[in-house]
Amino acid sequence: MPDFAYNKSIKNILPDWHDILSSSIETSDELAKYFHVDKKKIQKVAKRYPMRINPYYLSLITRVGDPMWRQAVPDQTEIENQENRSSFEADDPLAEENQSPVPNLIHRYPDRVLFMVSSQCAVYCRFCMRKRKVGAPFAVTDETVREGINYIKKTKSIREVLVSGGDPLLLEDDDLNNLLTKLREISHVEIIRIHTRVPCTLPQRITKNLAKILKRFHPLFINIHFNHPDEITCQASRACAELADAGIPLGCQTVLLKGINNNPRVMKLLMRKLLRIRVRPYYIFHADPVKGTAHFRTSINDGLKIMAALRGYVSGMCVPHYMIDLPGEGGKVPLLPECVKGMDKSTLKVENYKGEVFEYPVT
Ligand SMILES: *Cc1c(COP(=O)(O)O)cnc(C)c1O
Ligand code: SF4
Repeated sequence: MPDFAYNKSIKNILPDWHDILSSSIETSDELAKYFHVDKKKIQKVAKRYPMRINPYYLSLITRVGDPMWRQAVPDQTEIENQENRSSFEADDPLAEENQSPVPNLIHRYPDRVLFMVSSQCAVYCRFCMRKRKVGAPFAVTDETVREGINYIKKTKSIREVLVSGGDPLLLEDDDLNNLLTKLREISHVEIIRIHTRVPCTLPQRITKNLAKILKRFHPLFINIHFNHPDEITCQASRACAELADAGIPLGCQTVLLKGINNNPRVMKLLMRKLLRIRVRPYYIFHADPVKGTAHFRTSINDGLKIMAALRGYVSGMCVPHYMIDLPGEGGKVPLLPECVKGMDKSTLKVENYKGEVFEYPVT
């Protein structure tokens, strides 16, 4: 049995996720009980961008500065970098606010919208592209949700709703059920896709009851967000098994992050572990130029090297697309290591995954 395999005995001792969440570390005083930290510095950052590390995610940290630590613990560079890098970075580099016909809903592509229904997360990731929004208690209200649903109802071109946030799975079961019921009542909405980090950051939230609710709203897809192989614990794999057993196709959107996963060996292991818990790698995102996240950004070359290390070397089922998000309103673009080495009237020259060049007839 792999070390992170689904273990049936765990479900009997599943603690209530509310209790875990309410014991989260949110101040530097609390953090200082576990680690040697500069309390003043951390508190200054957390005042600007909230900190939340729930005890489950805290338990994944093995030492100061490890990949889980870097994702969750405020770093002084988040606020330091702002003065001198502000021309390149923005709070909202993707101009989400401009494509927002109603608050908390983004309509960028013809047939799908991104609908933010929660401003809370189980952990506040330091690299978050919606840093400007998450953790603000009043950013999502009954009123913004109602307006969003009305917009979707009257916009017949929308075929897919991406339910996002913050983390939509931090809504209570009843609230989530009501929301999904309202979306399913709209006949032109064919697909519901939920974006969540909860199976990774608070897997105890994925209860039998939640899976039972979600199952009523098929076709429903869930895209999860894992960034490091050590996040795939036996709790996380139990959570994903619960969802997969409810017939929900699972995908993963990983963010390429310096010092966390910008390494072909780490990324390859992550992709293979994901597939084993029935989560199909969907996208690797190049980190967006969001204010306060410069220390996480890597070069495009890092990303292309990782893609070259995956393609052909691991199952095609665990090779995601490597995506950049264009600034402004351009949308997403996939990047690939170049395989076409040349073409004339009769032959195409291509390079395989081992770097060997072949000729192939054009017609
Ligand atoms: C990423 C994104 C989507 C979904 O894009 P896919 O390529 O279908 O995953 C939809 N709307 C917005 C605003 C997005 O940023
Ligand atoms: S879970 Fe997602 S939305 Fe929430 S802080 Fe992390 S990256 Fe941002």
